[in-house]
Amino acid sequence: MQTKSRNCICQDTQRHFLRRAFDSLELEDAQRELLISSFRETRFSIHIMLRRNGGDILRTFQGYRVQHNHARGPFKGGLRYHPEINQGEIRALAQLMTWKTALIDIPFGGAKGGIAIDPAELDSWELEVLTKRFAQKMEPLLGVHQDIPAPDMGTNAQVMAWILEEYSKTHGYTPGIVTGKPVELSGSQGREEATGYGVACITRKVVSGMPLPIKDVRVVIQGFGNVGSHTARGLSKMGARIIALSDLKGAVYSEAGIDVEAAVSHVAQTGWLQGLDATEQLSNDELLELPCDILIPAALEAVINCDNAGSIKAKVIVEAANMPTTHQADTQLRERGVMIVPDILANAGGVLTSYYEWVQNLQEFPWEYESVMRRLEQRMLRVYGEVSHYADENQIDMRTAAYEIAIGRVSRAIQLRGF
Ligand code: GLU
Repeated sequence: MQTKSRNCICQDTQRHFLRRAFDSLELEDAQRELLISSFRETRFSIHIMLRRNGGDILRTFQGYRVQHNHARGPFKGGLRYHPEINQGEIRALAQLMTWKTALIDIPFGGAKGGIAIDPAELDSWELEVLTKRFAQKMEPLLGVHQDIPAPDMGTNAQVMAWILEEYSKTHGYTPGIVTGKPVELSGSQGREEATGYGVACITRKVVSGMPLPIKDVRVVIQGFGNVGSHTARGLSKMGARIIALSDLKGAVYSEAGIDVEAAVSHVAQTGWLQGLDATEQLSNDELLELPCDILIPAALEAVINCDNAGSIKAKVIVEAANMPTTHQADTQLRERGVMIVPDILANAGGVLTSYYEWVQNLQEFPWEYESVMRRLEQRMLRVYGEVSHYADENQIDMRTAAYEIAIGRVSRAIQLRGF
């Protein structure tokens, strides 16, 4: 699928899911307008000199920060470094954050940002300079009670540390300005693995409703970055059988189950899953179509689409990535009785733990690892229960249920505050 069309597909998908929930809630046009429009969309040109082939060249990169809604609290959402991002995609992802923070009921709104760049093109020094310039440009938008970025695809705790440093130059040491920071710089214990661990907890809950013990449930995970690898580690510790994993180069498969810790060490040594002992090589497309009980897309958007929805054999899809299923695929799969645990529920463990990190920063009082993980698991399961209950009561799918709960909360906050 072409990238340009992937971005359009994401926006279409988001619009479609929202319309479904708006119609079901019978919202008027004015209410829809208030819920959809972005509070502010900012685009920056970021210039940097790069030394290439013995000479200096000036490169200009596009940076974005879309602040969608802050009716329930400060804007919150990650920064993505990826060559193919654009304003439309960031806008759709910012909206998704508004629904996600409302669904898990944390006092934040939604935002998203990033730079259109392949971070692998730059060395660490260049990345630091670029990030600090981006932070300078974003500075008027940010604030501990205004807008709090976090990591997303292509960024990590180190990138957050550079933003913290840049912001602190003019505001004094302000750890609460970003979440997903290194623990040594007031980051939270458990934030690194939080999204994947949350996905694992939700998956175990789904499995508890199946007539199979967890060790016999066949799980396939697409993507082995931060979210995919921690989902796999969490699930394998819970006793699940992970039969296939993949990264950008392709997939590895073993019907008997993959040793996930061996996969983590193999990737640490070689950079890729390819060549992992006791596994067969498959393509990413083949992985998605494997017969399995649970499929967990944990990479890019729109990977489950019209081209492959008909061939997907999983009984349940747990969306660890943001927007991995297009709306057409979603309709097809639901009609076939496939259960889909939507992204705004399944991967909310990341931003939930960002909230815990922010609270620890405001209180200047760090929590123990066990305390963070226990609260993470409890809240994820509670929200899963609320969404399932709402879906059953109203005879609707889990995605529409999750959107309806979230939209109801944002709508009420707008109404209470007046606009
Ligand atoms: N990037 C993550 C997400 O999409 C986390 C955002 C955050 O912690 O603010 O949910």
